[in-house]
Amino acid sequence: MSLSHPILPHSARFVFRAALAALALVASSGAVAAEQDKPPLFAPWIDGTSASEPETQVQQVDPDTFVIRQSMRTNFEGPFLYLLFGSDKALLLDSGAGGLEIRPTIDRLIAAWCARNGRTSIPLVVAHSHGHGDHHQGDAEFAARPDTTVIGLAPTDVAGFFGITDWPREIATFDLGGRALSIVPTPGHEPAHIAIYDPKTRFLLSGDTLYPGRLYVPANWSGVFRESMLRLAQFVREHRVSHLLGAHIEMTTTPGQDYPFEAPAHPDERVLELPPEAAYALARLVEGMGDTVQRTVADDFIVFPVEARLPNP
Ligand SMILES: [Zn+2]
Repeated sequence: MSLSHPILPHSARFVFRAALAALALVASSGAVAAEQDKPPLFAPWIDGTSASEPETQVQQVDPDTFVIRQSMRTNFEGPFLYLLFGSDKALLLDSGAGGLEIRPTIDRLIAAWCARNGRTSIPLVVAHSHGHGDHHQGDAEFAARPDTTVIGLAPTDVAGFFGITDWPREIATFDLGGRALSIVPTPGHEPAHIAIYDPKTRFLLSGDTLYPGRLYVPANWSGVFRESMLRLAQFVREHRVSHLLGAHIEMTTTPGQDYPFEAPAHPDERVLELPPEAAYALARLVEGMGDTVQRTVADDFIVFPVEARLPNP
């Protein structure tokens, strides 16, 4: 069951844009730099620099929240996956880039959670930040898993599952049981992209839309991406967000400096988490670009236009 509510009407958006302009001044690189001085949210992640690193690394945020990184030695993308438990069901966001069996790691975490909670099983939903290949290669491993739903990759699949009738303007609620997630459509990088807000941790899981790396935007999706970034920034403004957590890291600890394409290892990798103000900074940047996204290097991410891709919006 999912409930949904529309975001602010068009007239309110202009008010919001004015507020965004003010916020962006506050949220310039100073605030982002200050975030880097805070203690990191996680222990160092596996970064491909060690031949003996495991295929997956799991970090527990709280007893119901796990972040999993896939080793870059299994796939250079080294994506991050998120496993969230509520009292009724569990949600896995993304199933990896392939090059390993991901399900044993997830099954082990679910079994341990069930044991701790005196249960024998919990229904599992496998969702995706978006439909690109580095985020769903593990889906086949979950296809025949008992009590498991794997959501499809098209925008209609995602909207249908979460009960979104006005994609991408409508924000849905998906309750895991005492843990009502918000599903924020953010097409642009890819047509079916979503961000997920978790009120328990106050994390906003931002996929490939906003992470410390190259934010690829197909030329024909620039306008859609801009609207999504405005939607995301507005959401951040209206909710208590502690961190943005994306699906990759491609930035080094040197501000504005990324790794080469398909780098097999990431020595001196930037931390995963971004401050919520990064959403304002990105929205401000793309709003000024009109319908043509321009390559822009910020301290913590790079807006990176790429050739037009089908489908057209
Ligand atoms: Zn990706």
